[in-house]
Amino acid sequence: MQTDTQSSTFSLTQIGQGDGVYISTYGCQMNENDSERMMTLLEMMNFRPVTSPDQASLIIINSCSIREKPVHKVHSEVGKYRKLKNLNPKLKIGVAGCVAQQEKENLKADIPLIDFVLGTDAIDRLPEVVARVRDGAPVVAARFEHQQPYHIETLVRNPGVSTFVNITKGCDNFCTFCIVPFTRGRERSRPLKHLLDDVNKLVERGVKEVTLLGQNVNSYESECGTNFAQLLARLSTDTGIERIRYTTSHPKDFTDELIDVMAEHSHKVMEYIHLPVQSGNSDVLARMNRGYTREDYLARAKRIFERLPQAVLSTDLIVGFPGETDEQFEDTLTLMREVPYENLFAFAYSPRPMTKAARFTDQVPDEVKSARLARVLDLHREISFALAKKYEGTTLKVLVERYDSETGRVQGRSTQNKSVYFRGSEQLIGATVDVRINEAFPLVLRGEMVL
Ligand code: SF4
Repeated sequence: MQTDTQSSTFSLTQIGQGDGVYISTYGCQMNENDSERMMTLLEMMNFRPVTSPDQASLIIINSCSIREKPVHKVHSEVGKYRKLKNLNPKLKIGVAGCVAQQEKENLKADIPLIDFVLGTDAIDRLPEVVARVRDGAPVVAARFEHQQPYHIETLVRNPGVSTFVNITKGCDNFCTFCIVPFTRGRERSRPLKHLLDDVNKLVERGVKEVTLLGQNVNSYESECGTNFAQLLARLSTDTGIERIRYTTSHPKDFTDELIDVMAEHSHKVMEYIHLPVQSGNSDVLARMNRGYTREDYLARAKRIFERLPQAVLSTDLIVGFPGETDEQFEDTLTLMREVPYENLFAFAYSPRPMTKAARFTDQVPDEVKSARLARVLDLHREISFALAKKYEGTTLKVLVERYDSETGRVQGRSTQNKSVYFRGSEQLIGATVDVRINEAFPLVLRGEMVL
């Protein structure tokens, strides 16, 4: 088996020979973005994307470690392709993403059907890895490149109206429940000039909106000391992009400067903020190593709404973190009543390998976690339906993303990241139009274009 230490130069552009490639993607926007990057690289090698694994001679599972039993899921998905591999011995199967990074050689040893393992830091080595594998040598490429500068260009085949742009990778925060620092490595930021050039090139290709992507975007720091607030300001003034979004931000790094820049450039920086709180209790937050208290968080939210009255907040919550008492859980419910979250992603805690919280001895019973999760979801349903009603009768600026010829409707997103549906035509794609909202639900608004 070949490993990270071996490398050589290949002429890669014809290796695919027009063969089909199928990528199965799990997990977050980072993984979706990595899959798009892999597909772009493979198309450059003359592979052809296919929609079904039985049309492929290369299958890649882009795996996720966030949910429960991630290795088991990879086992079961690879198992589904055993028959295809028996029928076509030339079929190559690779596992990429966080499980690949976490398990490395173990994954190949456990599942001999796999031809290559590609860690999260090795995406750009995919052409070389595929070339080696096609020569008959299994490869494990899962070493972190801590010393390498983070220099990548956004690779996207058909960017459309809106696309992702990576600005940071990795995370240094080591929240005690989270596996990301182990699967994505130490945090690194892309150079400012590269980002400005990248976004301007996307604008030339017709992109109207970028979503800046990273595990913790607001700790971005360029090689010359530009921080995230300053990056937003530069993207607003020095590029032709119409809309800027970002995800995910960390409450402890959400500075006044960032809020002020969002207010100053509100015509470009969209007023939707995903601000994961995780718990409403300060002692639980301390055990999670989140770096802020309930009071800090509430002060951040207050400041955001003072400067950005139209802002929409969403959040992530974990219930049943080790040691969480009934009273501490109640603090999460009271926080939900204080901060008007329009969208919320709630999870029952489950231990992840390598993390500190997995070793905590005061794990909460599953039935308690399930009951708490149900209460959070019930409360959120009640709050979010009430909040949605405020949009009825208002007029929102909507960037149109797609047209459905069957219904004659278009779909776009408002500045607050609401999906808005209304009657329109294909010619509207890429245009920003005013839409009066007639009917509002937590995730979807329906209306009519104001002419
Ligand atoms: S900030 Fe915490 S939760 Fe977010 S990626 Fe880093 S360690 Fe994980």
